[in-house]
Amino acid sequence: MMKVTILDGYVDEPSRLGVPPFISPYARYIFGAIKAAGHEPEYMTIDHYRQGQKPTGQILFMISGALVPGKYLRTMPMSFKELANIISESSVENYVWYSSRPRETPPGATHIWDCDADAYIFDMLNSGPPDKRRRTAQEWSEWPVLGVDMVKQYQNHPQSIIAELDISYGCPHYITGGCSFCTEPLFGMPVFRSQDAIIAEIKALLKAGCANFRLGGGSCTISYKAKGIGETDRPRPNVVAQKQLFSGISKLPGIQVLHTDNADPAIIASYPDEAEKILQMIANICTSGNLLSMGIESADPAVVEKNNLNSQPEEVLAAIKLINKVGNKRGPTGLPVLLPGLNFLTGLQGETKETFQLNSQFLKNILDSDLLLRRINIRQVAPTRQEYAPTRHKKQFIAFKKFVREEIDSPMLEKVIPAGTLLKNLYTELKIGKIMFARQIGTYPILVGLPQNLEPGIFLDAKVTTHGSRSLTALEYPLDINNCSLSALEELPGIGKKRAARLFHARPINSKDELINALDEPALASQIIPYLKF
Ligand code: SF4
Repeated sequence: MMKVTILDGYVDEPSRLGVPPFISPYARYIFGAIKAAGHEPEYMTIDHYRQGQKPTGQILFMISGALVPGKYLRTMPMSFKELANIISESSVENYVWYSSRPRETPPGATHIWDCDADAYIFDMLNSGPPDKRRRTAQEWSEWPVLGVDMVKQYQNHPQSIIAELDISYGCPHYITGGCSFCTEPLFGMPVFRSQDAIIAEIKALLKAGCANFRLGGGSCTISYKAKGIGETDRPRPNVVAQKQLFSGISKLPGIQVLHTDNADPAIIASYPDEAEKILQMIANICTSGNLLSMGIESADPAVVEKNNLNSQPEEVLAAIKLINKVGNKRGPTGLPVLLPGLNFLTGLQGETKETFQLNSQFLKNILDSDLLLRRINIRQVAPTRQEYAPTRHKKQFIAFKKFVREEIDSPMLEKVIPAGTLLKNLYTELKIGKIMFARQIGTYPILVGLPQNLEPGIFLDAKVTTHGSRSLTALEYPLDINNCSLSALEELPGIGKKRAARLFHARPINSKDELINALDEPALASQIIPYLKF
């Protein structure tokens, strides 16, 4: 029997989130495939390695992906430099590196990316040098269940982690070549996992202590088992299949968080009746704070045509309206039940300076309406399909980003999560200076800063006080006015430094009347009482 060490360098793909608190399916599948081949898996993360743990297997199977610009809160994915160092520092017989994209290969390792990593290691252990292939449907049922024990070795197990699950891979848009920049159509015809396989994996993960899940993997949640795949790039949503999937999941006891991934606005706009039924199902069964990210990429019809993008701007708007109709009510977590997110992409063929104006106007119109958006993501085309380079309109790109962050994100966040909203179950993750940063467990969680003396690694509820462009400030709820820090008092609405000092010195304050007496402006009491306990 051979021992294989899996080193999880954290994959951060839009449809396979794998940076803590997310556990991507890759490592679980590989863990299961090694067991299915009759060998012994050992699992460690790049953080275990950074802390001094060494791989003890004969094969070291490393997984990583592209680094997404921006900050990570809990940890950083493995860099290419770290990968090269691990290879030079370790004394393992055989190194394999799986990355989610083609990249240069570090010396001493076999690099794979154009196949399923789990199928590769299974074949390697079974029959020597493997063909690069996709896993079969049966393997996709068995290996994830065999691999669930891996989650017990993940840091912060079990409370604050969320398992990413595949419901499919590939994109229905492949039939027309797909969007010009995207590699997903290269997989060919989309393949869907059976409802039973997905439900069985969740059941096994629940048994292993994992209670939070995100259904990802595919290009469109609404298109799961849609009718007409392979004949049209706009297949009809399959309400029956979705019902079997979501009602099956809803019968499993112990799920705390269930969220979804992407949606294709063209499918929603083309089949509003079926889409509305499925959206309603998602809204009813999943946890509030859920998000359907949609790729508009560009609001410029000429760019849409030139790059074979899947939706025209008016279709994206129709999808935004339908998701809002179903999901914009506030749910138990404090967030609206289900909202759309938008992805923009710059550097596309045919892009002009006017493209950025059209993008800005599209967002401004949404902001000025009663529609809500949870997240706007702006990226530049990655050169995975050769003909692309970063945008030629750098100045306009920078101005567009600034406009979105300052003039759209912040007022939109105030609409989505107004001051005074009670956010449930925030998990405290990192303290910087006097601020503890926390997030809810779920898809693309909002970052919340708490100016309080709090321990990391605890769950708490908090009420929102102020808004940044993509983050919030909040106070633990209820705030103990007699024992909280001065900075927490300062954060109460309308208080500020001077009044906070006044309240601080007036403590103990044991009633509303005593609070009114302690304030120079008694009317302020009604503003701050909803945050307090005496
Ligand atoms: S619709 Fe999405 S997944 Fe499909 S080709 Fe376009 S970008 Fe890729």
